[in-house]
Amino acid sequence: MDELEQAAAALRAGGLVGMPTETVYGLAADALDAAAVLRVFAAKGRPTFDPLIVHLPDAGWLERVAVPSPRARLLAAACWPGPLTLVLPRTAAVPDAVTAGLDTVAVRVPDHPLARELIRRCGRPLAAPSANRFGCVSPTTAAHVREQLGAAVAVVLDGGPCRIGVESTVLRPDPLPVILRPGGCTRERLEELLGEPVALAGREDRAAALALPAPGMLASHYAPAAPLTLREPGAPWPADPALGLLAFTGAGLPAGPRHEVLSARGDLAEAAAALFAALRRLDAAGVRAIIAEEVPAHGLGLAINDRLRRAAGKG
Ligand code: AMP
Ligand code: MG
Repeated sequence: MDELEQAAAALRAGGLVGMPTETVYGLAADALDAAAVLRVFAAKGRPTFDPLIVHLPDAGWLERVAVPSPRARLLAAACWPGPLTLVLPRTAAVPDAVTAGLDTVAVRVPDHPLARELIRRCGRPLAAPSANRFGCVSPTTAAHVREQLGAAVAVVLDGGPCRIGVESTVLRPDPLPVILRPGGCTRERLEELLGEPVALAGREDRAAALALPAPGMLASHYAPAAPLTLREPGAPWPADPALGLLAFTGAGLPAGPRHEVLSARGDLAEAAAALFAALRRLDAAGVRAIIAEEVPAHGLGLAINDRLRRAAGKG
């Protein structure tokens, strides 16, 4: 039995699988099996009020789990497979465990051949959050998944390092399009495709969309073990050698502290792909604290800055 078949069999039996996608690695379970889905929450230590994204092999499966609107159909046709998650009214097939009891479900088609083949072989949509312990940095390699969740999964499929490196953009297309979480699909592209403005939800709106018991509860997320602080724009980098510095282009870095440069040529896509592994390396180096700088706030920069602010606990 090859590894893919082994993974599909484990999923059909209610088990968990580490699944490569183009964004980050997912911790996958059969989305239509409530008991399997609850195992995902338990393995991650994720609160059950935080709903999961359902992954499909192609847009043809959409009606099995959701009721698409005209905007949803347009975006699915243009952006899938790809890093765009649509929040749509759900069908009765989707268990409450997946949606945290909401009447909407988040769905996408990942742009990774192994992920889509796995879902096809399993024959069921897969619910998958990022394959890390809740609140920690998301995994962008199979080794990251094995380190944190190796004991909880039947198989980790190795699809190489993630091409995009930050999670999908979560968009609620109706009644008016709102980005609930910035991610791998840019706001500019969505506005171009829809021909209308796309709003960016603040922390309060996000909490309301998720019906969270306490707004802002999930402000601290995607966090490394070392405390992370954002450098004031324009302020010099500190030179304390016990610190770890997370820089965009590396301009003006002092000698002394350990540092990571996300993209020397200032490319936001390259920076996004490098972000989570860089945070992990600074942690592994045992730095006392991490000082990071925000990147330009356009394109993938929105997703990078969102993750940095949440790593700093600033939502
Ligand atoms: P993760 O699986 O960690 O990438 O996170 C998935 C995120 O998708 C959740 O934390 C929510 O922000 C969002 N999400 C999932 N389902 C819904 C939904 N039904 N309504 C709004 N947001 C959702
Ligand atoms: Mg996550």
